[in-house]
Amino acid sequence: MDKGRRKFLKVAGAAAILLGSKPAVNAIASGGEEEHSTAKKRDVRYAMVIDTRICLQHEDCHDCENACHFNHNVPKIDGKKEEIKWIWRDKYENVFTDQQHDYTIERLKGKPFVTLCNHCDDPPCVRVCPTQATYQLDNGIVTMDMHRCIGCRFCMAACPYGSRSFNWSDPRPNIEKQNPDYPTRTRGVVEKCNFCVERVTIGKKPHCELACKHGAIVTGDLTKKDSAIRKLLAENQVIRRKPTLGTNPEVYYII
Ligand code: SF4
Repeated sequence: MDKGRRKFLKVAGAAAILLGSKPAVNAIASGGEEEHSTAKKRDVRYAMVIDTRICLQHEDCHDCENACHFNHNVPKIDGKKEEIKWIWRDKYENVFTDQQHDYTIERLKGKPFVTLCNHCDDPPCVRVCPTQATYQLDNGIVTMDMHRCIGCRFCMAACPYGSRSFNWSDPRPNIEKQNPDYPTRTRGVVEKCNFCVERVTIGKKPHCELACKHGAIVTGDLTKKDSAIRKLLAENQVIRRKPTLGTNPEVYYII
């Protein structure tokens, strides 16, 4: 078992123990054992492909982040501890911690890669949430009922990707321009990308995908063999973030 996975199981296990939930511990442990498990059988399975070759040609472009954060009323707060982010960019070494070595090619070294919640097929964040504020839909999307969130942050401890943010203070004064069509959050609540569940479930594309004029982001239903996303996956070599942790991330990166 590698160091990263050991650390992940330790943190996720600790969150579950704090929760006093034996089934949660077992679930995390069993999720971690099956390193190469395939995704669960579903009638619909939404997923995302990010073509980083396109992204890296437009390093100054932040259209996906801006569209997501505006539409979801994500506040802009400086500082690593307090910042709130649903989709953001980080350097290759931080995003793909298990893919780096001394000979990483120059094209990737230190370059910004888009990252977000992976809508894992076996999401540890869901298992540790004591109030079911975080839950998974039948279509695989991991979403939240913010009203049920009690701010315990077990989900943050369990997520091995840092995909969740916590509102240490009232986020509303830090929303640059409010979108009246989407709810705002309050102090003491965790939040993250919801795969634009409010749109996807009525047949619309996520904001990030629509905003990317370069076509670097493609979402779709993995169960549809003739879908654009399946075509991309069939024709390109893709990697995922920390796949050996057994979370089965459903965001794929063409490198
Ligand atoms: Fe949960 Fe993190 Fe996976 Fe998203 S990336 S589903 S927050 S464990």
